[in-house]
Amino acid sequence: MITREDFRELAEFQGDGADCAISFYFQPAPPSNRSHREQAILVKDLVHQALREAEKSARNGSARADLQRILDLAGNWQGNRKRAKAVFACVSKNIWREFDLPPQLAKTQLFVNRRFHLKELAVLLGGQPRLWVAFVDRHRARFFDLHLDEVKEQEALFRPLPRRGRGDGFGGYDAGHAERSVNDEALHHFKNVAELLRLALERVAFDRFVIGCQDVHWHDFEAQLHPYVKSRLLGRFAAEVGSATVKQVREQGDRMVRESLAQHRREQMKEVLDQARSNGRGVTGLRRVLRSLEMGEVQVLLMAENYSAHAVECASCGHLDAHMVQYCPVCGRRTQELEDVCDAIVPAAIRRDVELVYVKDEPEFDRIGSIAALLRFRADQKRGGIAVAS
Ligand SMILES: [Zn+2]
Repeated sequence: MITREDFRELAEFQGDGADCAISFYFQPAPPSNRSHREQAILVKDLVHQALREAEKSARNGSARADLQRILDLAGNWQGNRKRAKAVFACVSKNIWREFDLPPQLAKTQLFVNRRFHLKELAVLLGGQPRLWVAFVDRHRARFFDLHLDEVKEQEALFRPLPRRGRGDGFGGYDAGHAERSVNDEALHHFKNVAELLRLALERVAFDRFVIGCQDVHWHDFEAQLHPYVKSRLLGRFAAEVGSATVKQVREQGDRMVRESLAQHRREQMKEVLDQARSNGRGVTGLRRVLRSLEMGEVQVLLMAENYSAHAVECASCGHLDAHMVQYCPVCGRRTQELEDVCDAIVPAAIRRDVELVYVKDEPEFDRIGSIAALLRFRADQKRGGIAVAS
């Protein structure tokens, strides 16, 4: 399973001179479909095409070994793979990393470049926070971890059922007392569950969580959640602890993650457009986004899911420019053309902890250039809004 550290390590990779960074994404054929053979042929075609292209450039030697290894690997899958796969390789830097992924990639693809191609992985990981689904009732709790399509039961909490007191059968004071003590015990149990969630969040066992419980218990339990923990709650559904199933974890978890992501995207997009209109903490269009990235101002980078644009990069100082200039306006050295500017800005965003938000089917967003950024601050407005001539 891929971790955040793996992801960051891949983003930090930068090949030099003769290095070839190979990124291979494999999306298996749907199980109902008999096109596994076609998948194998597709992989072969992609690899052969990459070999032909690599031979045209100076970097062919190192790519050949990795490409052959990918071909062998994919050949061994024999069409019975259910999970998707990502492979990142650079033989001259001794890197070979394989990751199993949920079968949710757009397609099988192969990239040979100076950097790893991380956009597909960023889209996939961005849509899959580490999620806990907790089932709670008055004396039990079960916790499931749902990440990258895999479900694992983590922990469970059980409070022994209260022993009945001697006076139970007589009604009146004793029965009332017994009832109260049952309530106290339930409350104590809810507190323990809330505390377990707080500690789990503290050790980053999850990013977001979902609660499955009966409606009657929700109010009492919710009151025990620490506000910081509650801010990570995506939603609640009605469920019984005893009959909790992996299927239920998957269905309810996926649904709530999908809904909350869609809402988050809409809110971020609205915010960036409002901020850009008021000349505040928002910029739109590639040219201004690149400038803000370079100034370290960006907090959230928004781009259309299929966004791609030509740009140039200075091999010497790393400056990115939306104008196809031959010489770097910063240091004067020669620039290199980037077929897709995302190859440079996605790793840069990951390295700098910039949140990436992919926007889908929003005509208003496409009108402003399909790329925008929310800023932490604006360097040109840091002096209290007073224009200072430099
Ligand atoms: Zn430069």
